[in-house]
Amino acid sequence: MPFVNLARRFIQSTFNALLNFVYPPLCHLCEAYLHPDEKLICNTCWQSLRRAAPDAQAAGNDFDLDGVYSLWEFGDGVQRIIHEIKFNRKKSLADKVGFELASLVAENQALREVDVIIPLPLHHTRRRIRGYNQSHLLSIPISARAGFPIVEAAVRRVKSTKPQARLSARKRLDNVKGAFMVTDPERVAGKRVLLVDDVVTTGATLNACALALQAAGAGRVVALTVAKA
Ligand SMILES: [Zn+2]
Repeated sequence: MPFVNLARRFIQSTFNALLNFVYPPLCHLCEAYLHPDEKLICNTCWQSLRRAAPDAQAAGNDFDLDGVYSLWEFGDGVQRIIHEIKFNRKKSLADKVGFELASLVAENQALREVDVIIPLPLHHTRRRIRGYNQSHLLSIPISARAGFPIVEAAVRRVKSTKPQARLSARKRLDNVKGAFMVTDPERVAGKRVLLVDDVVTTGATLNACALALQAAGAGRVVALTVAKA
């Protein structure tokens, strides 16, 4: 058996090398050829993504969230990365971004002192159409590096909300009110939660989820997103 595995691995790596020779990998953002030490996105593009302030807080003081932290400021490059993860199921890209999110967790005490990771749930119809939840893809590398378990299916999105983009801040809060329901309170009661999502704008959606979690007995809830709009 080990020989079969070894042979399979050899064939696979030879095939990949051949594929890279015929179709050299290109940067997802600028389409330049990638150097052997670069993966998916070239170093120039990667370094041009603007880092968000490390202590970004939720907008508004009446929020139930105990902080919102983001990796990058929203911009063209970040938008394209998120689009690839969200709609084209680019798992390798989600791993690369998730690795950066995990570094942010390691550097930041507020993000580090949690018990569980909860990917912001999608409504089941949207999840069915997309086939996966992008926040879950992003949570996997964070969980692997930070060691906190991912708790899924304890909280559900029970209201299929309108896209928030075109709504005013006030309407956003109304739109997501009651959108989340904790279906398994035992898994969140007394737990400090790290909520993971792709983008935060006003924080209304994350806040609605935090509110539901706290009503079910969760402790501190902090959010971590890829981008801050
Ligand atoms: Zn590039």
